[in-house]
Amino acid sequence: MTKPQRRRRRQRSTFLEAAYICPSCGEEIIVPVDLSQGSFQEYVEDCPVCCCPNVITVEMDEHFDDQLQVMVRPE
Ligand SMILES: [Zn+2]
Repeated sequence: MTKPQRRRRRQRSTFLEAAYICPSCGEEIIVPVDLSQGSFQEYVEDCPVCCCPNVITVEMDEHFDDQLQVMVRPE
């Protein structure tokens, strides 16, 4: 599998990176979070390492907008 090049654009932090530990394989997974989608997001994403679907919950603190709370549980 080839990794797409990650483009870094200077924007007003629309995207942040969140990290979570996959509950199935224990690997740290980095995911981009689109802040324009709201301060609370929940979605299912397959772990790129072990392919187990995980439910990822991202919550943003309004007072510290660089702080993301990331929770993950197996689907
Ligand atoms: Zn995994």
